[in-house]
Amino acid sequence: MPPAALPGGQLLKSWTNGEGRNLAGPPEGIRQPLYEVNPLHELGVVIRVVKTVEAFAQENGLTKIETLVLQIGALSQVIPRYVEEVYPMAVKDTLLEDTRLKIEVLPANARCRTCGKVFDVLENKGLCPFCHSEKPEMISGNEFMIKEIVAC
Ligand SMILES: [Zn+2]
Repeated sequence: MPPAALPGGQLLKSWTNGEGRNLAGPPEGIRQPLYEVNPLHELGVVIRVVKTVEAFAQENGLTKIETLVLQIGALSQVIPRYVEEVYPMAVKDTLLEDTRLKIEVLPANARCRTCGKVFDVLENKGLCPFCHSEKPEMISGNEFMIKEIVAC
């Protein structure tokens, strides 16, 4: 079978997390990541990802998926380390059992309401590095999405 891949960056699906918050939407302000004590939250999230990918594979006649690429915002409630931890459990006995997981962390970017420039909020502790204003408007960092599936 020739290699088939989704074009890079194509958004398959974005969804809400267990609390019903739309993770793809812009956050209302700077929010610290929620560090949960156990990764059960991530397990549920990863199981939903596996089901989505399996359904996609079935629709497109794919029998093996080589790599799954997830994008997780730096302010997302989904913690990459926990996703990696629960991943083997979530893919066991599924089409994705041998699929490599790749996680890309997206920066927490904001646009300064004073000068309009874009900067990384975490790196700059919420202060605009250009004009030192404290009025950032969050534009990214809360994402959780499947970026790409590489089939073989
Ligand atoms: Zn500024």
